[in-house]
Amino acid sequence: MKSFRYERARDVASACTSAAHPGARFIAGGTNLVDLMKLEIETPAQLVDIGRLALSGIQETADGGLRIGARVSNSALAVDVRVRRRYPVLSQAILAGASTQLRNRATTGGNLLQRTRCPYFYDTTKPCNKRAPGSGCAALKGINRMNAVLGVSDHCIAANPSDMAVAMTALDARVETAAPDGSARTISIDALYRPPGDTPHIETVLKPGELIVAAVLPPPPPGRQLYRKVRDRASFAFALVSVAVIVELDGNRVRAARVAFGGISYKPWRSAAAEAVLVGAPATRASFDAAGVAALRDARGYGYNDFKIPLARRTLRATLAAATGAS
Ligand code: SF4
Repeated sequence: MKSFRYERARDVASACTSAAHPGARFIAGGTNLVDLMKLEIETPAQLVDIGRLALSGIQETADGGLRIGARVSNSALAVDVRVRRRYPVLSQAILAGASTQLRNRATTGGNLLQRTRCPYFYDTTKPCNKRAPGSGCAALKGINRMNAVLGVSDHCIAANPSDMAVAMTALDARVETAAPDGSARTISIDALYRPPGDTPHIETVLKPGELIVAAVLPPPPPGRQLYRKVRDRASFAFALVSVAVIVELDGNRVRAARVAFGGISYKPWRSAAAEAVLVGAPATRASFDAAGVAALRDARGYGYNDFKIPLARRTLRATLAAATGAS
């Protein structure tokens, strides 16, 4: 590991100021960053430790939502009784991710900002535009089984690995940030991630030194919430495909629907196309199939990951059927 300077932040303002320096990075749980530093894939000159900042509470908001401090651990968030009762899709998604040990260390802000990556990102003998900009993308013609099929570019086809972010996208969550100049802003989770384009090493819209201080959940929408993750093994594996659905019925028809996919794009993929097909349609497998076709209409496979396109359609159908009780 390369040597680096270490600073324990006293408050949000000084943390942002310190992290604005070239080569500086925030660190909280460190479950992603420390791994990458050991491999010298990440070589920050300075770490700004936010581990003692007062960002670890979960509070009710005036409109009936929840404000989750950026340092709330994934474990604490998943078991919070308000989350389990009102946002079960979020609890289910978090518990589907990583291992208990990792969830105990990983934070809400860190989960959202973990690197979007594929196995070649870790293989320093192979080209990777994300690790070494301009070097190429080994996944395009390589073993790309885990890679994305929607919204990516020929410069990078990595899939965002977060389960939590998929549920938050379905819930219309947003993040609050603080910047070195003292300003604050709110960004929807959907708008947080940048498409890879020709700069896949820049993954979010956050500016240097800008810190996520909280995630905010709006009041829970009516309807049944469900998260389903398809993966190679039942423990500690990224999603091949995952789906978060929130669906409200009016008799046998769909009154309202939200659909977000994981494992198929550079970000949690909210599917307006699927939602448009579902609203007003009968809650039947035929409607759910049509929603899946619409959701994946623009998808492109790269060989080994071609299977993700039909798998995503089937996963959506199965998740909607389970959420609605459709036969
Ligand atoms: Fe690197 Fe992205 Fe290509 Fe994977 S898909 S090798 S992360 S550029």
